[in-house]
Amino acid sequence: MLWTPSGWSEDASGSAEWRVPGIANLHSHAFQRAMAGLAERQTHPEDSFWTWRDTMYRFAARFDPDTLHAVAAQLYVEMLEAGYTTVCEFHYLHHAPDGSAYADPAAMSRALVAAAREAGIRLTLLPVLYMSGGFDGRPLAERQRRFGHDVDGFLALLDMLRQDASDTLRIGCALHSLRAVPADAMRAVLAALSAQSPIHIHIAEQLGEVQDCINVRGARPVEWLLANAAVDAHWTLVHATHLNAPEVQGIADSGATVAICPTTEANLGDGLFPLRAYLGAGGAWGVGSDSQISVSPIEELRWLEYGQRLATHHRNIAVRADSTSVGETLLHDVHASALNATGNDIVGSDTITLDTDAPQFVGMTNADAIDRWIFSGNRNLVRDVDVAGVQVVADGRHRDRDAIAGRYRSAMRKLLA
Ligand SMILES: [Zn+2]
Repeated sequence: MLWTPSGWSEDASGSAEWRVPGIANLHSHAFQRAMAGLAERQTHPEDSFWTWRDTMYRFAARFDPDTLHAVAAQLYVEMLEAGYTTVCEFHYLHHAPDGSAYADPAAMSRALVAAAREAGIRLTLLPVLYMSGGFDGRPLAERQRRFGHDVDGFLALLDMLRQDASDTLRIGCALHSLRAVPADAMRAVLAALSAQSPIHIHIAEQLGEVQDCINVRGARPVEWLLANAAVDAHWTLVHATHLNAPEVQGIADSGATVAICPTTEANLGDGLFPLRAYLGAGGAWGVGSDSQISVSPIEELRWLEYGQRLATHHRNIAVRADSTSVGETLLHDVHASALNATGNDIVGSDTITLDTDAPQFVGMTNADAIDRWIFSGNRNLVRDVDVAGVQVVADGRHRDRDAIAGRYRSAMRKLLA
């Protein structure tokens, strides 16, 4: 049986397995895999996203191309074993720690490309434009220097990377956030991009940045973006957490995708995405593992739904007129957004084979298979994974799990030394 966004059907290959398309991970910062679990001690009674960010900057300063490669390869193995077959890498760790360019200015990007190739995951690389340290246009702080480009340097990086683009490597573009990209720079970059390029941006993760945007630009972040850029289906708005009703409708009408990262947004205390209103408006969305405190599409989807249940005191929130199944609705939407957000048509070409021998599937039917997969415990039910016709996971194990984990251990010893 093969599941597609229109439901289960007989598998054209005649296979007796239960298969679903691969899942797109719309938002990842690979290096943060190495600090998962290392920011969970209170440093201040008012700990917040902003104190977490200080820890993250200290950690980011330790990476070089080799350690980034090793950490990303480990992460991508974990993603594949969990069922993600493509990842959008929101990449801003561009330069050496002091801000100077590496001999190859694309060295850090190429480390991610090499890691993805080694693991066999599709990569949509989104080099990030990061120019200022706040809405007031202040220069980057010392710890942000390795993230920075001017517009020309950034466009040159995109050109360089595009030469290696392929079926499994897409080169898109990211604007870090409205606070990090001045309006004139945003316009210059957008004017230089092809109309087909995926564009991602962190948009409204924290209430503080919403207030700063109102103070400086006279509008809320999403409101400002919709009024100042031709936002369409090529755009992905990451953490569109804080929205008012016109913004919910505005994003849905634009055709843009929202990348929701429920476990990271919970971990960082960001807030809850207004899912019910957004589904009602017909909006497109997908999920991302973001800070890598969880690398599981199941956990993202589950917590997306559970957050709504906790906030509304109701059950079974994510449903649509054509399906009362929460699991199928969630999976439908994740697959429907994958092509626009990643540039990859994975629904027809990447597959996950479910472990239907697991106890969770005893007595399964078409009607409950997806809900069982998403809402029944923590055993990983992904058995095999094929990406672009190549099997990379068999019986739950990635083909190079041990070798890649060995290099990851060495890299971690170096990073933690
Ligand atoms: Zn992010």
